[in-house]
Amino acid sequence: MASTIQKLIQAIQEIINGQIPQSTEIDPDDELGRLAEKFNEMVQVLAQREEQARQQSEKFRQLNRELIQSNQMQTEFLSDVSHELRTPLTAIKSFCDLLLMFGDDDPEVREEFLQNIVESCDRLVGLINELLDGSKIMAGKIEWDTTDIDLIEIIVNSIGVMKAMVKEKDLQIVTQLPIESIMLKGDRDRLIQVLQNLINNAVKFTSEGQITVGVEKLHHQVRVNVSDTGIGITSENHDLIFERFAQVTDPKSGKPPGTGLGLAICQQIIEYHGGKIWVESEGKDKGSTFVFTLPLFESEEPQ
Ligand code: ADP
Repeated sequence: MASTIQKLIQAIQEIINGQIPQSTEIDPDDELGRLAEKFNEMVQVLAQREEQARQQSEKFRQLNRELIQSNQMQTEFLSDVSHELRTPLTAIKSFCDLLLMFGDDDPEVREEFLQNIVESCDRLVGLINELLDGSKIMAGKIEWDTTDIDLIEIIVNSIGVMKAMVKEKDLQIVTQLPIESIMLKGDRDRLIQVLQNLINNAVKFTSEGQITVGVEKLHHQVRVNVSDTGIGITSENHDLIFERFAQVTDPKSGKPPGTGLGLAICQQIIEYHGGKIWVESEGKDKGSTFVFTLPLFESEEPQ
């Protein structure tokens, strides 16, 4: 049978080879036994340190993967934004050139060119506002204007603004709203921005079918759903799409315009109001439902 010294030598050799040895059998009554006991303790500490180092290095690998992904998203974002800015600018330049050439010929044509210029300017302003909002979010510098608001009124208002866009794509918009008003404390314009963003996305990513906007009043909160019958979102992207710059639409299906900032801004706004926002979708071509909750303030809670 191997002596305690032989066992210790074998265990030390295993450590040199990069392994963690099994505990060495000891006789705690003699001096050598106590040495072996200390040796076993040391091996245990070594094993714990190795495990901590493994966890740390896994953390660093994960951080590295996230950095690479965020870098990629920012590069794509820059090229998308340049493209988004160029499209309306090119349109404005072309219609101005046409106006200079043929503007005096026919008042109707002139009117049409000017209308196109105004629409392109609106798109530019919208895009620049979204970019500015995005950078305010990064710096945590959104300014809030909190008042008493009626959620149903702002939903009806937001749907009204989006109606032309819905009609243009030949989609239906259906509402499931309670008759009575739902009072909240919140930033009216920012909540309208969330609703318009969700409806705008629903229209953008749906080629046929309907958009449904529903509201459900629960005990301490209200739940708003914006559902579509569009391209859907696979489950691995459900969290990712709320990150800045994230766009997950398959480029093969022809990527609609966008910056990947809208949902990150929506999340910031909803969380500021004490609510949550998430997406439910069974996957590709199964449609999507964006849900957000907002807390109800005391006097509106059921008695
Ligand atoms: P943008 O629409 O400007 O790209 P968003 O932050 O609003 O930015 O959305 C991020 C991404 O989430 C979109 O690019 C798209 O890939 C996905 N997405 C958002 N809404 C929908 C939807 N209703 N259906 C399918 N995909 C969606």
